[in-house]
Amino acid sequence: MTLDRRQWMTGLSALGITAAAHAASPLWAATSSKKRESRKRRDAKSPDTHVDVAIIGAGALGAWTAWHLVRRGQNVRIFDAYGAGNGRAASNLQTMFLDPTQGGDALYASMAQRALDGWQNLSNSASLPIVTPCSVLTGLGASEAATIAAAANSSAQSADMLRRSYPQMLWQDGEYAIANSGGGMIAGRRAILETLADARLSVEDIVMPAPLQDKRQQRYTLPDGGTATHLLYACGAWLTEVFPQLITPAKLSAVRHQLFHFGAGQGDVQYRMPAMPAVVDRHFGFTALPDLEGRGVRVWSHRPDASIDPDSFDRRSDDRALAACRQWLAARLPRLANAPVVNSQAAHDCRTNSGDLLMDRFPNHNRVWMLSGGAGRAFGLAPAIGERMADHILDANRAVEPRWSLPSLTGSIIS
Ligand SMILES: Cc1cc2nc3c(=O)[nH]c(=O)nc-3n(C[C@H](O)[C@H](O)[C@H](O)COP(=O)(O)OP(=O)(O)OC[C@H]3O[C@@H](n4cnc5c(N)ncnc54)[C@H](O)[C@@H]3O)c2cc1C
Repeated sequence: MTLDRRQWMTGLSALGITAAAHAASPLWAATSSKKRESRKRRDAKSPDTHVDVAIIGAGALGAWTAWHLVRRGQNVRIFDAYGAGNGRAASNLQTMFLDPTQGGDALYASMAQRALDGWQNLSNSASLPIVTPCSVLTGLGASEAATIAAAANSSAQSADMLRRSYPQMLWQDGEYAIANSGGGMIAGRRAILETLADARLSVEDIVMPAPLQDKRQQRYTLPDGGTATHLLYACGAWLTEVFPQLITPAKLSAVRHQLFHFGAGQGDVQYRMPAMPAVVDRHFGFTALPDLEGRGVRVWSHRPDASIDPDSFDRRSDDRALAACRQWLAARLPRLANAPVVNSQAAHDCRTNSGDLLMDRFPNHNRVWMLSGGAGRAFGLAPAIGERMADHILDANRAVEPRWSLPSLTGSIIS
């Protein structure tokens, strides 16, 4: 009998145990001004049969947690059902963005500089650049301008000021924006592969079921017979497949977004840095990233347009989503409204019902962690999120951030 992946995983049971604590050691040193040097990465080490931590999912969050754990002397194996940098993962886009303002949300904004340093450090030793620093403009309606500007510790610029600074953009009276110079454009999939190479880890193509515990040895058993002291499920939207009784799609869902790259005319530098910043248009709910490496201006709507199954959905964009992007361009970047599409893609993101991350233990299993969610921001912040996740794995006493806790996702206290 053949079982599909979902049947196989949900047919296996989960068990659990205690926690371990290790001291953290220093991570990266201060960074950004370092000259970038090309360096050949050393080969990945062959996996051990028993490891401190097995990580399930080699997207941005799994890869960065692995990187931090390796830096702190842990033995790590990392698995992915579809392989490293696979086309179904949320982390597979070509370009990702790190927003330093984070809509004025202090919890995430406080992680942005740390994350940028992490990407910059990786970039410094990579053969090709991994991060390109950029400035960011957050467009705001009159009703939220004062509160978000105060939360972001910045002052809101009026439409008049914005028209003078950014002649390629339209701004209506009553609109505002705040500028922040601490953003970054990150080389998406390539950045994940580089993170893993820097940690000297090779991803194993293994589909991991729910935790199976060897009670005698107090270890978790891996599908190939190996064992691990800790498990981290960083499997994005697939968390609902692995733990269907605990996390339902109503709480954590895979949602579709469609993005388009619009090509400016030959030699037109108005849409490249430094003339054009990244634009997070909260007022209309769209983001545009400046043209990097000639790939065109990347535009996407903040609002997902469908709930999907990340295994089976067809990653093709459609005309309706394109029309919505063109309509926004007509209102904000009018010279691009009829520009050709250079590239387009449908992709999925993983969204908790609050929009927050999930970073918590599996109930009654102190050494089994779940890390997922953080829609629209998890990639850029991954170096800082991964660091926090590694802290938890190495320090059993560290308190979980209440907004990222399982009860805050499921709405109930689980013992
Ligand atoms: C259109 C669009 C634009 C976006 N733009 C940005 C942006 O500019 N900046 C930003 O920060 N974020 C952005 N995001 C969000 C970002 O893509 C995600 O938040 C991030 O990539 C999630 O990473 P992850 O590691 O949690 O999940 P994923 O990248 O989905 O990785 C999960 C991995 O787990 C593997 N897996 C699942 N189940 C198993 C199993 N049982 N065994 C083994 N492996 C398994 C999967 O194969 C997959 O590779 C965007 C999202 C979309 C859709």
